[in-house]
Amino acid sequence: MDQKTLEHIVKHEGFEKAAEISTDDLVFVPEYRKFCEENACGNYNKNYACPPYSGTPKEMKQRVLAYRRCIVFQSKTPVKDAFDNAEMKKLKRKHTQMTLQAMKELKTDGMDMDGFPIMCGPCNFCEECMMPSGKPCVKESMRFSCLSAYCIDVGKLAESCNMEIQWSGNEVYYFSIYVFDKKDKSGEIR
Ligand code: SF4
Repeated sequence: MDQKTLEHIVKHEGFEKAAEISTDDLVFVPEYRKFCEENACGNYNKNYACPPYSGTPKEMKQRVLAYRRCIVFQSKTPVKDAFDNAEMKKLKRKHTQMTLQAMKELKTDGMDMDGFPIMCGPCNFCEECMMPSGKPCVKESMRFSCLSAYCIDVGKLAESCNMEIQWSGNEVYYFSIYVFDKKDKSGEIR
C-alpha cells in the first residue's frame, strides 16, 4: 500500500492517521479475555462476533497471524462525555462506517481484499444482534469482531504506529485494523 493512497483515504474518510504494519508487531494478551467476560460493554454472549462465540483468544490470534500485514486506522473525535455509553456507541458506529468505507476505497484501488477488519467495537450491522433471539447471523461472512475480542493491546498498537492514544474526557481516539496479505496456501499459522 503506497503512502499517497493511505493519505488520500485518511483525508477522504476523516481519519486522524493510518499506517501499515506487520501483523508481527501486534501484541496479543490472552488475559484480556477476562475483560470481555466481565461484560462491562454488555455484549458478551449476546453478539455472534463477541466472545465466547467469536472463538478463544488462541483461535482469534491464529486467524490474524494467518496474514502478514495490516492497515491501522485511527480517528480522533471531540466528545461531550467520554463515559457516556450511548454517545460512545454512536462514535464507534461512525468509526466502523469509516473503516468499511476505507475498505471499499482500498478495493477500488486494487488492494487484495482477502483479509478482514477488526473494529473498535462489536459487529453493528444490525441495530440489535440476532444472537439473543436465537436467529442466525444475517451477515456471517462479513461480521467483524473488535480489538478487545482479539485480545490485541491497543496501547502497544498505537505505539508501534507512532500514534497518540488518550482518553481525556472530551476527546476519544478509536482504532481499527484491516488485516491482509494471506500467508502461503499451505495455511502457515503460528
Ligand atoms: S451481522 Fe447482525 S446478527 Fe451477525 S453478528 Fe453482526 S449484528 Fe449480529
